Amino acid sequence: MADVYFIGTKGSEEADSLARKVEVLYDALDVETHIRRDSFVALKIHFGEKDNTGYIRPEWLSRLISRLTQKTRRAFFTDTNTLYVGNRSNACEHLKLARDHGFSLEALGIPVWIADGLIGRDDDEIEVDLPRVRSAKIASTFLFTDVLLCFSHFTGHILSGVGAALKNLGMGCASRAGKLEQHSDVHPWVKSKKCTLCGMCFDYCPTGAIVEEAEAAFIRDETCIGCGECLVVCPTGAIGLSWDDDKNRIQEKMAEYAFCVHNLFEGRAGYLNFLIRMTRDCDCMSKDAPSFMEDIGILASRDPVALDKASVDLVNDRAGTDIMRELQPVDWSIQLRHAAEIGLGRMEYDLKNLSPGSWD
Ligand code: SF4
Ligand code: SF4
Repeated sequence: MADVYFIGTKGSEEADSLARKVEVLYDALDVETHIRRDSFVALKIHFGEKDNTGYIRPEWLSRLISRLTQKTRRAFFTDTNTLYVGNRSNACEHLKLARDHGFSLEALGIPVWIADGLIGRDDDEIEVDLPRVRSAKIASTFLFTDVLLCFSHFTGHILSGVGAALKNLGMGCASRAGKLEQHSDVHPWVKSKKCTLCGMCFDYCPTGAIVEEAEAAFIRDETCIGCGECLVVCPTGAIGLSWDDDKNRIQEKMAEYAFCVHNLFEGRAGYLNFLIRMTRDCDCMSKDAPSFMEDIGILASRDPVALDKASVDLVNDRAGTDIMRELQPVDWSIQLRHAAEIGLGRMEYDLKNLSPGSWD
């Protein structure tokens, strides 16, 4: 069984209280022993799309940052560019948005870096022999990083059911080519009766695959890269999804990419999931989305599979039903089961509740 550490949080909690809890969880992970003065330590995070309000706040990590800067001069925040257009598809706009959300050298004392370069093409290929992926295209920054700390906001996700540590690792550490490879089996189409020709999907589609026809939008499959952005932004639910013969493939590829990144670190990686302000869609949504549940807390583990499984279990237990399956029409368990099968981690875990009494 893998150890998963948990500390509960409340909705109105002060940032410093959350920062103290993060520090306790960081200590429980015991990754600091791997950090030397010249170690590159990547703090992998999602900076949040413009106008998104669910993203992990830098203030919650302030105490952790202080600890890191005492150990190394080379800690940095990082994320990769997105496939879709928006404010995170290139390093220039991505860094400006990160700064607007409080992530900057000036504000935090550590730099912010886009892991796959100016336009998402800085990657290295890792040869693997996995069922879905033979050559993973990973953002090159991670190949030169000594220690990885991966912070994931637990949310639903339109393509993977759940977005947490595995998605942050597998999709979030892949370069543009790697993301394209993972999305290549997804084929959206427009339900013409529901389409109001509002034009939202035209604006967000990164490849211009959506065209206006007489009564509805139409998606040209040969131009579509399967990023899924149109599904998320359509206000009327007019976009349906069809898959190649195996609709599990995107989650399985994602798990295999996560396997590649995790294995780069050989035990020098720690993962934290934030079950705070949990939303139906991920932080790529450019809006203030409502939470589907009260805050639960923060979890940490060195095993990303056990961490995500424990996170889903806590959410579903609180709901009394498989709420993640009800929020999104996707079986979230595929990514976890496949990740366990290929040896990325374990589904079985021992949840260790680090009660406030142990650190107050
Ligand atoms: S049509 Fe294809 S490429 Fe365009 S937003 Fe939708 S999924 Fe992405
Ligand atoms: S976003 Fe939806 S309703 Fe608007 S044009 Fe696209 S498919 Fe039609």
